[in-house]
Amino acid sequence: MRDTELFQAALGLGTPWSVSGSRFDAAARRLDIEIAFAKGARFACPTCGAAGCPAYDTEQLTWRHLSFFQHEAYLTARVPRVSCQACGIRQVSVPWARAGSGFTLLFEAFVMALVASMPVAVVARTVGEHDTKLWRVVHHYVEQARDHADHGEVRRVAFDETASRRGHNYVSLFVDLDCRRVLFVADGKDAATVGAFAADLQEHGGDVAKVAEVCIDMSPAFIKGTAEHLPQAAITFDKFHAVKIVNDAVDQVRREEQQGRPELKRTRYAWLKNTTNLSAGQRDTIESLSRRNLKTARAWQIRLTFQEVYQQPSHQAAEALLKRWYFWATHSRLPPMIDAARTIKRHWDGILRWHDTHVANGILEGINSLVQAAKAKARGYRSTRNLKAIIYLIAGKLELRLPT
Ligand SMILES: [Zn+2]
Repeated sequence: MRDTELFQAALGLGTPWSVSGSRFDAAARRLDIEIAFAKGARFACPTCGAAGCPAYDTEQLTWRHLSFFQHEAYLTARVPRVSCQACGIRQVSVPWARAGSGFTLLFEAFVMALVASMPVAVVARTVGEHDTKLWRVVHHYVEQARDHADHGEVRRVAFDETASRRGHNYVSLFVDLDCRRVLFVADGKDAATVGAFAADLQEHGGDVAKVAEVCIDMSPAFIKGTAEHLPQAAITFDKFHAVKIVNDAVDQVRREEQQGRPELKRTRYAWLKNTTNLSAGQRDTIESLSRRNLKTARAWQIRLTFQEVYQQPSHQAAEALLKRWYFWATHSRLPPMIDAARTIKRHWDGILRWHDTHVANGILEGINSLVQAAKAKARGYRSTRNLKAIIYLIAGKLELRLPT
């Protein structure tokens, strides 16, 4: 078998395309494969599909292909432009690459496989290409897959905001609670992000009127956005977030009290952890301190009881306990606990709704760990657009249309 035949078979070329030559440069570690079309061949118009258009002229193009062992490989071809009676002069499409791309489809598939598990900047160094070019490939496949994504079955959604870069910019993630996939990433964290999500849902065959449940933290913007844009949705407030509000109040009580009670120094985490996660030393600390008459110990008891609300067997039992808890907390004479109790009171129904939906448990934290992973993979991502693309890629469960 001659080398041209070998390459032709390996590339899977069919008429009118064939390998017309190859050049191997060991010093440059580079293989060039030339592809040509049969003389007099006719092509389909790339715009309207009309068959049998004659070549009008040609343009020489080069594409990076999968490496040949350790050597970079390139395909070159004179690509014809056809003269179509309906559309005018158009460059034909070639079977091994997308129009306008400097990479072959197989090289792009290889890049997409790598970026799913490595930072794009690292992939760029590995394959010796500028990362801007690779980002272009990522955006193409992610946008194409999102264009075809079907959101018709979306009924329950969680959303949360996350810093896109060190605390300045935010993106909000909208996650399908049933399929556990990111449906939409919005810029910002205001009520308008919910409107943007609703519009995107409709564009993907979904129906805002069918979104029956949302799970969010107590952000006023998300509450307002839900009321405006997802009018049929009942809100469950994220359990983790509700407990955190009460826990933060415990910490505030401790910080104020420790100025006069030095035995409270360095006990912060013992009060904040769940009792089952305490080390033996922390358990001893809590046991001895909780016997003294400390405000912190009382605040801590209030927090433990709040958590018991989530362990009740029914909505009714939970509401009965939450009412007793509210009375106790608001009569504790501990201002941070009173404030926390009032916050809980303002979000009463959404907190108790957890007993009906059981959504939240870990889902929002799950989202955040996905985003942290995406940020790591988008390291040096330069723009929010790049971060969004990686979030969709690793957490969107997209069906990428890639050659195999
Ligand atoms: Zn045409």
